[in-house]
Amino acid sequence: MSDIPPKQRLLLIDDDQFLLNMYSLKFKTSGFEVETANSAMVALQKLRDGFVPTVILCDLVMPGTDGLALIRQMKDEHLSPSSAVIVLSNQSQSAEIEQAKELKVDGYIVKASTIPSEVVEEVKNILAKK
Ligand SMILES: [Mg+2]
Repeated sequence: MSDIPPKQRLLLIDDDQFLLNMYSLKFKTSGFEVETANSAMVALQKLRDGFVPTVILCDLVMPGTDGLALIRQMKDEHLSPSSAVIVLSNQSQSAEIEQAKELKVDGYIVKASTIPSEVVEEVKNILAKK
């Protein structure tokens, strides 16, 4: 009998419901347990309630609290410090990438230049290195 590894838990944060559904399906198909949040506030509540994802995949441009502010807030509150944090955004300007780096994110994936199956592969690669 082989050991079945525990499922990797993903918290997917994006204000675009279409993208939430699409990436959610892709990651579930790849064996992840997926929780979604359509805003930073919803994500923060799940983390404050004690949800500990293996990896947090976070959009940047969202109404209300944006992704960078969300990541800052998570760090300030020491929410799920063991989670890998990866930005998944259309923002490909160096200013955003620099700001994300300053927050010590584990990865930065540009949506427009990465098809969904590649996003899953990239997340797996980042987790394997962590
Ligand atoms: Mg967005």
